[in-house]
Amino acid sequence: MYVLSNVASGNEFHKEAVTNQLFPQIGDNIQSIMIKLLQSNDSRLRTACVWTVVNLTFPSRPGAHSRVAKLQNACITSQLKDMLNDPCLDVKVRQMSVVQIEHSEMMERGKPKPGGLSDPRLGTIDQKIKCETCMANMAECPGHFGHLELAKPMFLIFLSF
Ligand SMILES: [Zn+2]
Repeated sequence: MYVLSNVASGNEFHKEAVTNQLFPQIGDNIQSIMIKLLQSNDSRLRTACVWTVVNLTFPSRPGAHSRVAKLQNACITSQLKDMLNDPCLDVKVRQMSVVQIEHSEMMERGKPKPGGLSDPRLGTIDQKIKCETCMANMAECPGHFGHLELAKPMFLIFLSF
């Protein structure tokens, strides 16, 4: 599943290939393998599945809208909503996150740097730029969560979800 998640972060061809593998019978009532994986007892598998969905639905990609429709038809959206109280913190954080922050820089060549602290998927503070997650403007976008991968585990003493 981690391999599929990484492939799903590629170009449109990669995203469509992963979508066709995971949702081969869209429109039928047959439960997709993705639902079964999202309901797995293994939290690592659930985490990889959530991350795959995030990669498939990156909104600025041309095929994102049709892939979101496929996910909705396959009941993935409702399954993800059911996972908001997942017992695994990693699954919950990844489900809420729209981007992994990988760079400490905020801007690059005058624009918010992708994967940086001002990634356009987190929301916008510029009236001329729309949020890349919800496509709303500065006044309407509520802002979105991102996450950092830490080098080592640490306890969250004061934070609970
Ligand atoms: Zn937004």
